[in-house]
Amino acid sequence: MSINEQRVAIVTGASKGIGRAIALRLANDGIAVVVNYASSRAAADEAVAEIESAGGKAIAVQADVGGATAMSDLFDAAEKAFGHVDILVNNAGIMKFAMLADTDDALFDQHIVTNVTGVFRGIREAGKRLREGGRVINFSSSTVGLYGPGYGAYVASKSAVEALTHVASKEFGKRHITVNAVAPGPVETELFMNGKSDELVQRIVGTIPLGRLGQPDDIASVVSFLASPESGWINGQVLRANGGMI
Ligand code: NDP
Repeated sequence: MSINEQRVAIVTGASKGIGRAIALRLANDGIAVVVNYASSRAAADEAVAEIESAGGKAIAVQADVGGATAMSDLFDAAEKAFGHVDILVNNAGIMKFAMLADTDDALFDQHIVTNVTGVFRGIREAGKRLREGGRVINFSSSTVGLYGPGYGAYVASKSAVEALTHVASKEFGKRHITVNAVAPGPVETELFMNGKSDELVQRIVGTIPLGRLGQPDDIASVVSFLASPESGWINGQVLRANGGMI
């Protein structure tokens, strides 16, 4: 890679929440970004406009990460727009709260298809198409370890993401590609806030030693570090960013 060649990142689920903050942060770090979204086209276009108005490069690309060709389509779009791909951030994910006895097959399958199969196909594509020295950054959750009631399907899916992270880190090392995961605690986004009363949110805040919810930028800083050359010796790790709750 020539020293002047701009690095390129694909960020899945970047129209909102943590993914949006990651896209903006990586663009601010000088990286060209593919802003993936599933349905929120206006929000993705806004993220791209914000990056461009700050002098960065980005494109918005629609793809449901659970789709059979979604991840290869995203790599195609990135290579067409920017020539190559260096960083894959597998951020897109869903979380639907349900006790195991009330979790039907469709709900369980939805978590597997979006949170695991999409990440698997992204990792597979990254193993073939990231340039040497690349980065894969997956998204787990601090609910892995807490194993709270109601998180069965979600925790099952995120545990699989951690397993894939460990195996991929051992397979991709020979091409100097690192594979790590970030496991956030409660971050103030739609995914976390939906359906929770103020009282429940305050109770959860009470379990966090730093006494506040995480913000998308707290997680974007971690991803920025993992995407940077400075993290070159970190591989196969799950980094919990959660204010110390576990
Ligand atoms: P949000 O629900 O706020 O945002 C989700 C983003 O992912 C949106 O941009 C959405 O796009 C996109 N998305 C959802 N489904 C798909 C899909 N099938 N294909 C492509 N894009 C999709 O979530 P967060 O920002 O909170 O979460 C981001 C990641 O962080 C997830 O993996 C989540 O599990 C993880 N996490 C979050 C925590 C939290 O407390 N918030 C804690 C621990 C982990 P669109 O609107 O277009 O559908």
